[in-house]
Amino acid sequence: MKAAAASEDCCVKVAVHVRPLIGDEKLQGCKDCVTVTPGKPQVQIGTHSFTFDHVYGSTGSPSSSMFEECIVPLVDGLFQGYNATVLAYGQTGSGKTYTMGTGFKDGCQTGIIPQVMNALFAKIESLKHQIEFQLHVSFIEILKEEVRDLLDSAPLNKSDGSNPNAGKIHVPGKQPIQIRESSNGVITLAGSTEVSVSMLKEMAACLEQGSLSRATGSTNMNNQSSRSHAIFTITLEQMRKLNPISGDGCPNDITSEEYLCAKLHLVDLAGSERAKRTGSDGMRFKEGVHINKGLLALGNVISALGDEKKRKEGVHVPYRDSKLTRLLQDSLGGNSRTVMIACISPADINAEETLNTLKYANRAR
Ligand code: ADP
Ligand code: MG
Repeated sequence: MKAAAASEDCCVKVAVHVRPLIGDEKLQGCKDCVTVTPGKPQVQIGTHSFTFDHVYGSTGSPSSSMFEECIVPLVDGLFQGYNATVLAYGQTGSGKTYTMGTGFKDGCQTGIIPQVMNALFAKIESLKHQIEFQLHVSFIEILKEEVRDLLDSAPLNKSDGSNPNAGKIHVPGKQPIQIRESSNGVITLAGSTEVSVSMLKEMAACLEQGSLSRATGSTNMNNQSSRSHAIFTITLEQMRKLNPISGDGCPNDITSEEYLCAKLHLVDLAGSERAKRTGSDGMRFKEGVHINKGLLALGNVISALGDEKKRKEGVHVPYRDSKLTRLLQDSLGGNSRTVMIACISPADINAEETLNTLKYANRAR
């Protein structure tokens, strides 16, 4: 993590991903109410029009270019020692998990995380003769302002009757995970599993294991509704051997080493719909309130970072207002790169939430 020097260009990029109408919506006779302006990163809904850094959708540029345009620069930055964060935002059912590839069934082949893994290992392969690499993965979720380990090696949800924990989403018993900040501003997670990986398939296994153990609960919006933020973090350490040139122009006998460490957070955020729309018991409502706390804090942090004037005046960035922003603190702002992908459904029944999502994303610019 390089010393932070305020970068001049804005560190937060915002893209919109419009998914196609899905089976359920077609069955209900939903109409497409979102228009993408051809050739422009612009979306319209009703009388509202928004411009972002990129818009991907069925009628805009294909989402295959999303990876090239939004994510590849972050992966490249990782090799230069820059932290980065990718955030998928949107209401439940808008395509966050599909887009990130955090789901086990859907999008696992085509989502952002599997593509990041491929790109990362391809690059490591091409550089491994000059540079020594170490990779670590962690996968956690934040639910009700509590951090939980998704890579806890305890047996998971085997409902064959042999496991007394069958049906339980999380096996308790471990110390709670704590977010810590070192004196040089590096954020670490004390007590979470960090898996050392050297092969693509090992990293893919972490994604699969964590995705399976992710807590989901049913609400009347979507029975696979995700009320937690899931954060898949890849840490890349590099040891480069340098042969400095001596005064006479010949390489020195003494080699020095350069150490770089950077991390990439890939975040599948909780559903952004308001708690009132989940309309279930008091318990669930409380969860809704907590989720809003994380998303609210994130909105405030990103909006503070995106405001050049505020940044220059050194206005306080409220990282400490939620676990989510606290955890991402050293990977949002400063020298780090952030991409927010606002996921939206084109269906008219979702128009109100879609507009909320576009407004939220617009604040980040
Ligand atoms: P979320 O994680 O935001 O709740 P999901 O990623 O689970 O939403 O997506 C909801 C449904 O829409 C899933 O059935 C998924 O397969 C489908 N879906 C999402 N995005 C797309 C897309 N770009 N193309 C096709 N189907 C999609
Ligand atoms: Mg999801």
